[in-house]
Amino acid sequence: MAKNKRKISILGSTGSIGTQALEVIDKIADKFEIIALTGGNNTDLLKQQCEKYKPKYVCSNDKNFKINGIKTLYGNDGLEEICSNKENDIILVAVSGKIGLKPTLKAIENGIDIALANKETLVMAGDIVMAKAKENGVKIIPVDSEHCAIHQCIKNITQVDKLIITASGGPFLRKTVEEMHNATVKQALSHPRWNMGKKITIDSATLMNKGLEVIEAHHLFGMDYDDIEVVIHPQSIVHSAIEYKDGSVIAQLGLPSMHIPIQYAITYPERFEGIKSKSFSFSEIARLDFEKPDYSKFPALKLAYDAGKLGGSATVCMNSANEEAVFAFLDGKINLGDIYKITAEITQKHTIIKNPSIDEIFETDNEIRIKTKELIKGI
Ligand code: MG
Repeated sequence: MAKNKRKISILGSTGSIGTQALEVIDKIADKFEIIALTGGNNTDLLKQQCEKYKPKYVCSNDKNFKINGIKTLYGNDGLEEICSNKENDIILVAVSGKIGLKPTLKAIENGIDIALANKETLVMAGDIVMAKAKENGVKIIPVDSEHCAIHQCIKNITQVDKLIITASGGPFLRKTVEEMHNATVKQALSHPRWNMGKKITIDSATLMNKGLEVIEAHHLFGMDYDDIEVVIHPQSIVHSAIEYKDGSVIAQLGLPSMHIPIQYAITYPERFEGIKSKSFSFSEIARLDFEKPDYSKFPALKLAYDAGKLGGSATVCMNSANEEAVFAFLDGKINLGDIYKITAEITQKHTIIKNPSIDEIFETDNEIRIKTKELIKGI
């Protein structure tokens, strides 16, 4: 990477992670050549990005979107075409939702390394994705701050006893269960530490996001669920930690900025000054607090552990039901507290498929979304 530019495509370049990735690349522009940029419906921003970065390919959900001199592709097929292009050294998968899964698998089949910011890839198909990555010798470098932290701490996974994933606790950490249940969309969207997309911000308020991260960590690092611990850490300075067999704990710390893990993932194994704006100061931070998560207040976290342990299609079901319920909350159709109730009810009724194929995963996802919408209608 020192001599040659790393060739990168960004799936979801107009989203929260995608735009921050381009900010990272701006700082170390001589290290990268952008092969493709893709955006869903924000074609105005995608056009601006194309004019600035001049990728070879661009892909959107708008069939009429065209840019002179750049090969324009469309929809899922376009994403898969980009991921089949072996010119890429690495693909940053920063789209949100299940549309990230198939293109990621395509990239893995083509031996292209992945900087992974899409949760659904591992939550829906972690067994398949990790097996394929191993088979094809593909590196999956996590972008999410927690997994990125663990990735930085691990030297030899066989010597690790426990993963310790930190959670800020979100906006309702000091609120009552009642206050949380009846929270407005605005309250739920005002996360104290991280500025993220809407869906993940709601998941962070209920701690479902942490539950999804536990499932991802299980797949990424091959750890048993009983050896993955979640701890509330309101300052979001310790991004996660691991405990070795001998009791040594290694944690990764830093100011809460997504630029750092994004840069780590797309430049791995090298490091550059890049986006670093100030030096880390323990004395300025002064204190770090930790506490156990309260399952009675954040039952979604327990639900995710249970679904993870059940395995198979259980996590697909939980994820799809939760996502539909979050959308319904954002649309003002249900209360925040209903998200868990709906997700739990749908997940408990689900008949698990043990080793689902990719087709079965998508079929389960469709069925569950229909069932969840019906349940929401009745509320
Ligand atoms: Mg995270």
